[in-house]
Amino acid sequence: MYEGDYPREECGIFGIFDHSEASHLTYLGLYALQHRGQESAGIVTCDEGEPKSHRGMGLVADAFTPNTLRALSGYSAIGHVRYSTTGSSLLKNAQPFLAQRQKSFMAVAHNGNLVNARLLKEKLESQGSIFQSTMDSEIFVHLIARSKKPGYLDKTIQALSHVRGAYSLILLTENGLIGARDPHGFRPLCLGRLKGSFVLASETCALDLVQARYINDIQPGEVVMIDKHGLHSEKPFSRLKPSFCIFEYIYFARPDSNIFGQSVYLVRKKLGARLAEEAPAEADFVMPIPDSGNYAALGFAERTGLPFEMGMIRNHYVGRTFIQPSQSVRDFGVKIKLNPVKDLLRGKRVVVIEDSIVRGTTSRTRIRALRDAGVKEVHMRVSCPPHRFPCHYGIDFPTREELIGSSRSVEEIRKFIGLDSLAYLSLEGMVGAMPQPRKSFCLACYNGKYPVPVSPETDKFTLEG
Ligand code: SF4
Repeated sequence: MYEGDYPREECGIFGIFDHSEASHLTYLGLYALQHRGQESAGIVTCDEGEPKSHRGMGLVADAFTPNTLRALSGYSAIGHVRYSTTGSSLLKNAQPFLAQRQKSFMAVAHNGNLVNARLLKEKLESQGSIFQSTMDSEIFVHLIARSKKPGYLDKTIQALSHVRGAYSLILLTENGLIGARDPHGFRPLCLGRLKGSFVLASETCALDLVQARYINDIQPGEVVMIDKHGLHSEKPFSRLKPSFCIFEYIYFARPDSNIFGQSVYLVRKKLGARLAEEAPAEADFVMPIPDSGNYAALGFAERTGLPFEMGMIRNHYVGRTFIQPSQSVRDFGVKIKLNPVKDLLRGKRVVVIEDSIVRGTTSRTRIRALRDAGVKEVHMRVSCPPHRFPCHYGIDFPTREELIGSSRSVEEIRKFIGLDSLAYLSLEGMVGAMPQPRKSFCLACYNGKYPVPVSPETDKFTLEG
């Protein structure tokens, strides 16, 4: 299966409490979050204390039918779209993960990655827990189930005190919804209001689609309980330095979303403008690698005064993956997605704006396609610094050896891709384009400084009941 040469999306989560159309609105919310995960989708609803669940492989549109949605009755619901970063690509690993015991139940939708998952799992198994999936998200369920604290909120807080890493989380129980964000706030999670109902979602684009009003972001380390008494918020953990994932702004989040307090579209344009200041180029026009490079290219064009053109057209009807016969025709897969506009490109000097270069193989094929179309000069500008380190907080980059930025110089990458010139945005330039101070962001995949230690040996812990 060809999957391109981009970091893979992680997960999107959505939840709604107290709405007669809970499952349909969750379905729409997942539609809006489809870019965050295309491998599986699921919804769990609560109908008079009883859970109803449906999970399926593929896109949201493939995973549900009108009948499956109709069967998901109830006034509260949570949903999840997934690209696996841990656990293999199987239906049993699709979320929300649902567990039932006597007359109570708990369903969890998780976006992120726990760095102490293996240790926690070993410990829980040694104490009798039986895991049904290979997802680290199931750990939350076991930790909550074994807590002796009264009430789901306190049980959840106790469970969260054991986990390390990245989580934005929505839980559904027979009593209501719980939303939580890890103390570093790696992944986004926002709260909205739809008339009398509360909505939680990974990104504001999901609130927009269901016509919910944005209220605020769930803060790093905040846990909220939404039930028939309304919304109750707690900040039970010691305050830590925020580590918002900067790559959400650069690549993952939808440009029509606001995350971490700023419009993704506007941040991407600013990244492009910074790139133009740091690394201008003599050219006839600026063109993006669509779609994710579009907004930085607009900012680059605006700052340099060069015309903006769409030199490559994306085929929007190609699925994320498709079957190809062998590795030797991998390039063919790249061409299926993007096709150069030959009459526009012939004899021209172009600046191509990319948002990231992972292995470099896809970029090389695209530049070859531009050369075949008769381009005279190709200058590539990348709207972030080279990726040198893997992510342990929920983004599926290749291994360090496969990341071209970790083993080759910019000049070597330029030669490998076949460019006339190549420049990346500096770390200072990238952070300078952000709405928050530098210290608020995780930059680990660029500088190797991991805000949460990733070595299991550094994470000694004991499980309390
Ligand atoms: S390592 Fe990179 S991709 Fe991962 S959370 Fe940090 S900034 Fe985001």
